[in-house]
Amino acid sequence: MTTHSPYDILFEPVQIGPVEAPNRFYAVPHATGHGHLQPNGAIALRGMKAEGGWGVVAAQMTEIGPDSDMANHPMDRIWDKGDQPIHKRQVEAIKKHGALAAIEIAHGGLRARNLTTGLPVQGPSNLPIIRPEMPVQGRAMNLKDIRAFRNQHKRAAISARDAGFDIVYVYAAHDLSILSHFISRSVNHRTDEYGGCLENRVRLLREVLIDTKEAIGDQCAVALRFSVAEPGKNLGLTHDGEGRDIIEMLADLPDLWDVNISSWPNDSATSRFSEEGFQLGYVDFVKSVTDKPVVGVGRFTSPDKMVSLIKRGVLDLIGGARPSIADPFLPNKIREGRVEDIRECIGCNMCVCSDAYGVPLRCTQNPTIAEEWRRGWHPENVVKTNSPSNILVVGAGPAGLECALTLARAGHEVTISERRKEAGGRAILESRLTGLSAWSRVADYRLYQLGQMANVSMYLESELDAASVTDFNADHVFVSTGSHWRRDGIGKSHMQPMDIDTDVSILTPDDILGGKLISGKVIVYDDEHNYMGGVLATHLASNGCNVSIVSPLQMISAWTEFTLEQPRIVRQLHNSGVDWHVNNILSRASNGVAEFSCAYTDSKILELPFEHLLLLGGRLPNDNLYKELAQQSDNVNVIGDSLVPGIIQAAVHSGHRHAKLFCGDPLAGETFNRDQARLFV
Ligand code: SF4
Repeated sequence: MTTHSPYDILFEPVQIGPVEAPNRFYAVPHATGHGHLQPNGAIALRGMKAEGGWGVVAAQMTEIGPDSDMANHPMDRIWDKGDQPIHKRQVEAIKKHGALAAIEIAHGGLRARNLTTGLPVQGPSNLPIIRPEMPVQGRAMNLKDIRAFRNQHKRAAISARDAGFDIVYVYAAHDLSILSHFISRSVNHRTDEYGGCLENRVRLLREVLIDTKEAIGDQCAVALRFSVAEPGKNLGLTHDGEGRDIIEMLADLPDLWDVNISSWPNDSATSRFSEEGFQLGYVDFVKSVTDKPVVGVGRFTSPDKMVSLIKRGVLDLIGGARPSIADPFLPNKIREGRVEDIRECIGCNMCVCSDAYGVPLRCTQNPTIAEEWRRGWHPENVVKTNSPSNILVVGAGPAGLECALTLARAGHEVTISERRKEAGGRAILESRLTGLSAWSRVADYRLYQLGQMANVSMYLESELDAASVTDFNADHVFVSTGSHWRRDGIGKSHMQPMDIDTDVSILTPDDILGGKLISGKVIVYDDEHNYMGGVLATHLASNGCNVSIVSPLQMISAWTEFTLEQPRIVRQLHNSGVDWHVNNILSRASNGVAEFSCAYTDSKILELPFEHLLLLGGRLPNDNLYKELAQQSDNVNVIGDSLVPGIIQAAVHSGHRHAKLFCGDPLAGETFNRDQARLFV
């Protein structure tokens, strides 16, 4: 007898042009940070998604020629025959597991910079490139240039087909494509047949779609990745304006519509600013104007929501970039009825920030991402031990929980002790702040998994000193006791304690996370530059405080440029009534007045009254227990923030890596696989 699951509909095949996807899970193109220089890692990462059940796995943006050189951003390349072996290997890794292989071939247009190749940047108009900080300008393409681009795109599509790809993209999304730039009223200033009215601005996209279908359409599906709306952009597309018009004009030309919103910060919005399914309001009309299948994204992790989207005819395929990073095995877990085993994306964009910084991905939830080839790690499988040890993990924060889970999966007997009433450490504490509720998933996933295992015991409200740890007589101890914020003002711009009167009310994030209630005028001095300063300023303002946030750098929450949140953070601060100041270094605080000097000239430029001074600077590891234990025994490790304070992702990775090291993993230490440059002799 066949048993039916409410999720069966997600595992129906979908015809996409001449190919058939085995199910409705579609790992959409996203950058991995490996780029063309580190192909082994990218191939293994994509192969892992196919193993995890994604019916389509797509490679990232792949430059079609040297005049679309996106360096310093690590993209893939399909410039010439020399790139083919990588693509063939990539296709093999994906198809081995029954998935379709897709590739997003693209020309960056006015987003290219050609710093490597020295060729002129090209686009529809004579304009500066769309990277305002770069001193590069693009030139307007003439008709001959346009013909050359079409031929270049056709050649790349044929190469992609010959490499074995099943789905080949035409890319007109994220303001990252020459085709988007021709469509754009903002940057297409042409007066010929490629400029002016919408029909003219869409002409090149239509021609490229037809070129691609004619060249490879008998064997490959041709997908169009298209941003239907560009919220916040001057003269941008709107889903009820030209965005919709374009879909109506091209409705059945592509074999698949892959739809989203532009630009990248809108498409990859974080959970702090957007809910699961946040793009649906923009793309839910698409299926009503085309007969072709539609894939959409929106950080979908709920199978019930996915089923609803299919049943209601909103989407045909469930697109995932970040959900497929956080859990490459999401489809298989749904198919096997293991929904509670899904490691849900928390929407933090640590993945995005690695890629934006030009390095292979890191993920807060999945410490094995981008380590598939480098360290041989698998997101689900851990090598079982033949000789189980009795292990004590002190501290149930992100590092401790991940370490305990990895050790328990390997078959060790694991005991976790936690001094607080609840486990989860900073992931739980921070999840109570405005906008960070999804952080709790870091703890929730691991606690559920640990709760299912007979070889795990956990004791809450159990603070251990060195003597009690020794009495426990574990074979090995992992100390994961976290860190605390400094109160002396030492931070990135102050390497010495600050000049602050002793009667000043100094607070740190630990006070707020610990539940301290304050009121009145608060200065948040953010010398950490990640998310916490902005979060706390907003949080305190929403609780009635009169808040100023001050940064010694040129922008508030500077690192969040890489998580794509920075402009939203400033808008949120503004809307919360928080006043903000940049380029100001705190030089003195006394008698209820804080003095700030200019970051460049040392001159005093700002005075602010305050009742509380909230300092975000450095953190110190809580490592006293470890130091005591380490004097008595070699069988002790310190991990996570208590080894070196960092972001939650780093703590999870640390917990995982140290557990693997303990288990004898030869690639978990300082030696691992790496792509190396080849010398020509
Ligand atoms: Fe999701 Fe954060 Fe992992 Fe990215 S890093 S996939 S946003 S959990």
